[in-house]
Amino acid sequence: MDYYKPEQLEQWDKQYVWHPFTQMRQWQKEKPLIIAKGEGSYLYDLEGNKYLDGISSLWVTVHGHRKKEINRAIIEQLDQLAHSTLLGQANIPSTLLARKLVEITPEGLNKVFYSESGSTAVEIGLKIAYQYWQQRGEEKYKTKRKFVSLANAYHGDTIGSVSVGGINLFHKIFAGLLFETVNAPSPYCYRCPLHLNRESCTMDCVREMESLLADHHHEIAGVVIEPLVQGAAGMLVAPEGYLAGVRELCTRFDVLLIADEVAVGFGRTGKMFACAHENVKPDIMCLAKGITGGYLPLAATMVTDEIYQAFLGEIDECRTFYHGHTYTGNPVACAAALANLELFARDQLIAGLQEKIAFFSADLKRFMELQHVGDVRQKGLMAGIEIVGNKAAKEPFAIKYNIPHRIVLEARKNGLIIRPLDNVIVLMPILSMSLAELKRLLDITYAAIRKVTEEEAL
Ligand code: PMP
Repeated sequence: MDYYKPEQLEQWDKQYVWHPFTQMRQWQKEKPLIIAKGEGSYLYDLEGNKYLDGISSLWVTVHGHRKKEINRAIIEQLDQLAHSTLLGQANIPSTLLARKLVEITPEGLNKVFYSESGSTAVEIGLKIAYQYWQQRGEEKYKTKRKFVSLANAYHGDTIGSVSVGGINLFHKIFAGLLFETVNAPSPYCYRCPLHLNRESCTMDCVREMESLLADHHHEIAGVVIEPLVQGAAGMLVAPEGYLAGVRELCTRFDVLLIADEVAVGFGRTGKMFACAHENVKPDIMCLAKGITGGYLPLAATMVTDEIYQAFLGEIDECRTFYHGHTYTGNPVACAAALANLELFARDQLIAGLQEKIAFFSADLKRFMELQHVGDVRQKGLMAGIEIVGNKAAKEPFAIKYNIPHRIVLEARKNGLIIRPLDNVIVLMPILSMSLAELKRLLDITYAAIRKVTEEEAL
């Protein structure tokens, strides 16, 4: 690629690019961070400054940046074929990957439908669930047209996935565009909507779900859930048994369980899939992010045979699933995913994670000593540190102080990239990080939170 001066690129970025989830007025005022290169656990900007990648480049990187095995698999596939459609055709990597995904995902998920992002994986799950009940045959199921969504849920940015979302900050503005859902409370234990705490928790959120399904099951196609952790809401870790409880209710009330493993899948929680912690077998499972180890866009929506069977009509019955993006099952992305999964096995990544998770979890405890840390939530190698202005009242700082953004900038000055979600500082280390790198990530974050919240003027 041609060499461009940093100032030139900064100017063009500000002139031409609209950044997602970014307050553009603030962006226009600040010096942009432009990443030019990656290597292992690190990213490098245009000036060659080195940063530890504390968010796995938006929760995707598994084995590190520029992993030669994945790069090689991509190049080898490019030498064969860059793209061919899956509409009425097949290709080699998408076939091999589907077989592999069926092997590693919870039992019963035997069919793979490809797309390109987490949002589309969820969108597809919703459409399949809806069409499934319409095609089941029995008249009584035809009324199953709605979904149960959770408060604080995040499932992506397309209209369907936003409809089943529940984060006011992101979703409220679109209310007029969305389809109606039945709302269940979020298992947000720090701010329990049922006014319980972790010690007094009797899992009333599961009981709430029970009464909701008892009342509405005849009109409910599925419950959409982020297993174990509601990520984008600030790493809200559900109490143990919550997911299994919801699974049991879905079975009892004839409702599909749609597990959105986009953020928690592929090792993030310490098992290959979060559902495995509670031995849960969903009816539909949505995968993206870590599926290619952070190399190329790819997503998969996995379904059971029972669901798939309902789409096998006679030719004149119109049971076809009329959904298919141009790049569905892209062979290069599938080749990257295959190489990613081979590395999981070769490096015994999941087994190796356990020591790192134990260290991460133990070291995070000290954050609670900080004056303005209200809650620390962690599962596997994902954590959320909730910043509050007043610990006793659990009140956030006033927005005008811009505390989370300042913490991120302070960390960046010290060589760490992190990103806040509202008032929560999110840590999503790359799964291949060493213990020393994890320690560095935690030390810089701790110092940045302390400096901005305790030492600097508001
Ligand atoms: N579901 C969950 C649980 C997510 O965390 C995300 C993205 N953070 C998505 C869906 C959407 O994925 P994508 O950004 O790839 O569309």
